[in-house]
Amino acid sequence: MKLICIGRNYAKHIEELDNERPEHPVVFLKPDSSILLSKHPFVIPPFSNDVHHEVEVLVKIKKIGKHIDEKFAATYYDEIGLGIDFTARDLQAQLKEKGLPWEKAKGFDGAAVIGAKWLPVSDFESVDDISFRLESNGEVVQQGSTREMLWKIDALISYVSQYFTLKIGDVIFTGTPAGVARVQENDKLKGFIGDTEMFSINVK
Ligand code: ZN
Repeated sequence: MKLICIGRNYAKHIEELDNERPEHPVVFLKPDSSILLSKHPFVIPPFSNDVHHEVEVLVKIKKIGKHIDEKFAATYYDEIGLGIDFTARDLQAQLKEKGLPWEKAKGFDGAAVIGAKWLPVSDFESVDDISFRLESNGEVVQQGSTREMLWKIDALISYVSQYFTLKIGDVIFTGTPAGVARVQENDKLKGFIGDTEMFSINVK
């Protein structure tokens, strides 16, 4: 399975990192080896002093497809999750400056948190109005709604499927809202969709 990630999908997050607003969705992949094993802590890797949390809504693909028309995209998923796209921001900045790929900064072991809990799409009035947040040590550090996405879930599925065949079990990370920040040892991170706790992890 593959993890397809979207960058720069929330206007305020683009501003906070001083990035350009993209013309098309920014797409990158994380390997399956980057998935944080369940019940394991997230260990800050030795090559970074500035690992950021990026909380993101996840979409699990249930059907194989390519060149998917946006109007049929909703038939390719029926579960919504929440996760973290951990990013070694210092390393990413170096790579970006040199015009090199980001993978080392975003695809390292443990960099992908996929909450164990998945919610059926039928739980939501609309997938384009899902409120979510990340708490660090009990304080809200990021919050957003899929309403604020520059490209909504169905548009993303259509777009990425022009390049990558989507397979059963693939997960799409749909981008992070503002509020990304450095994690520190002993932080306790909890993600919520509405009032439902989707994951809880410790940083070591
Ligand atoms: Zn991200």
